[in-house]
Amino acid sequence: MTQSGGAAEQLAETIRGLHMGELERPEAVRPGDVWHVPVGRIVEWEPDEINIRLNELHAESPGLLELDGYRPILTETVVACPSCSNDERLTIRGVWGEPAEYVCPCGHEWPCRARLLQEAIVSTLSQHGPDSIRRSDAS
Ligand SMILES: [Zn+2]
Repeated sequence: MTQSGGAAEQLAETIRGLHMGELERPEAVRPGDVWHVPVGRIVEWEPDEINIRLNELHAESPGLLELDGYRPILTETVVACPSCSNDERLTIRGVWGEPAEYVCPCGHEWPCRARLLQEAIVSTLSQHGPDSIRRSDAS
């Protein structure tokens, strides 16, 4: 642990928290349910590690990098299947609070952050209600 990061480190930590932290579980979500949430085409906003580090350096030593100010921190990435490159009609599958998977229309699977499954569940529930998502018991 280093104390030298100061404000920039806190900022980076906050941004990681915003994008990586967990949401509060809605009442309609039972703990063991496996969710299959159709997300179609999805864009992930990834914290950009290089820009986070640049911002830290800028805060520690203003002028050293000759930056005018902070750099944008998030990078937009369209999620695509690593096997067949399909980036449409994707599904996120998993249990609330556990690591999830993307599933493409061909059935390929690859890891998805737990937080994204939670966001997909919450937004689908709020738009379409609790019966709109297919789910199955974990057992
Ligand atoms: Zn695929």
